[in-house]
Amino acid sequence: MNYILLDLEWNQCPTGKQDENPALPFEIVEIGAIKLNDAREDIGHFSELIRPTLYTRLHFRTQEMLHIPAAELNRSRLFPEVFADFIAWCGEDYRFCTWGSMDLTELQRNIDYHHIENPLPLPLFFFDVQKLFSLLYEDGKSRKSLEYAVEYLKLEKPRVFHRAFDDTWYTALIMQKMNLELVKDYASVDYYRPPRSREEEIYMQFPRYSKFVSMPFTSKEEVMADKVVTATRCYQCGKMLRKKIRWFAGNSNSKVYYCLCICPSHGYLKGKIRLKKGADNCVFAVRTLKLVNEEEAAVIMEKQDAVRASRRKKKHR
Ligand SMILES: [Zn+2]
Repeated sequence: MNYILLDLEWNQCPTGKQDENPALPFEIVEIGAIKLNDAREDIGHFSELIRPTLYTRLHFRTQEMLHIPAAELNRSRLFPEVFADFIAWCGEDYRFCTWGSMDLTELQRNIDYHHIENPLPLPLFFFDVQKLFSLLYEDGKSRKSLEYAVEYLKLEKPRVFHRAFDDTWYTALIMQKMNLELVKDYASVDYYRPPRSREEEIYMQFPRYSKFVSMPFTSKEEVMADKVVTATRCYQCGKMLRKKIRWFAGNSNSKVYYCLCICPSHGYLKGKIRLKKGADNCVFAVRTLKLVNEEEAAVIMEKQDAVRASRRKKKHR
């Protein structure tokens, strides 16, 4: 399998958010990619500017960051042509690698905007190199800038940052330098096209937690009433667990829920459900289950106490 390291640069509405087209807040103006083989050797490059058709003037920030002369952009080809060449260049057996999780989502929004049939695999697994960096060198949760990572790994900096191809080039260096074997099980899944039915729901097993992505529901109440979504099975032994603390909303707008279970053989299991908005205002759930120690279990109990206390306060105000 090849790795396609991808970085996009995009433009935003030059006159501000109030005038933007909600179908395409970020219009891609550059695709930069590097292909690495199984041994992570550089075997090909793709780099091309794209002439914008929606926001034809550059936002001042895009201008500042990218240093792309408008004349050069206006001589470039349009998205559908460039994308067709790009996807042909990707070949058959590949996995995308990006710094952060935004690029593939925005790429697909651009695909939809141009009414191109989406050729990307479903579910779309990818390596978020920013996350892999954090898993290997930090706490797994931090998200550092590309430049930080380059400096941390003491790599040379012969190129500028924030141009698609240069950023990809640095991401490739980081990929080549890291011990991928240690984190290869931590693939990410892109949520731009969530599962459409029960059959398409995604189950992922990582070394230290499990993840589930649900089909769409019409409301948050409907999601949280679904037995498959709220099921808590120990990912080590497969046992269905009773809850010590039932699912409770972790914040006031109820986008995150937590629960706590105990497996007789493996100890505390923490559950977390994040609700996400899909197309047509549907709601789907991303549930993670993770075995935790007593301190982490205590954090969940305290969180529930705090949520209850703040509710009481509101009621008596
Ligand atoms: Zn168990």
